[in-house]
Amino acid sequence: MNKTIFEKIIDKEIPANILYEDESIIAIEDINPVAPVHALIIPKKCIETLNDLKPSDADIVGRMVLVANKLAKELKIDQSGYRTIFNCNDDGGQTVYHIHLHLVGGRKMNWPPG
Ligand code: AMP
Repeated sequence: MNKTIFEKIIDKEIPANILYEDESIIAIEDINPVAPVHALIIPKKCIETLNDLKPSDADIVGRMVLVANKLAKELKIDQSGYRTIFNCNDDGGQTVYHIHLHLVGGRKMNWPPG
């Protein structure tokens, strides 16, 4: 199967601004930010959509949220606030089919989302 853009970033085949990396997760700056802070927290294991999560993935999803928490503090948006988003499939606005958690902040967010 063809690699997604995120697998190419994980494999260092294409560049990205890496904000965090460990053995199971990489976090990068979004190439097309929608806010002053826009990071993507990506598991190194390829899971196509949230629908494909299994009970055994609970640990990696939990660790993704903890990386969001850590980055929010480092990027100084933890007190002002931020949004975390998993887009799923077409109606959810998913464009890269390798799950990722958006961390967006640095401006006031609207609700309901567009
Ligand atoms: P989604 O629409 O939820 O699937 O999010 C995919 C995100 O990946 C979008 O916000 C894109 O701007 C971002 N993106 C796509 N290609 C790259 C890249 N090469 N480096 C960083 N972010 C990317």
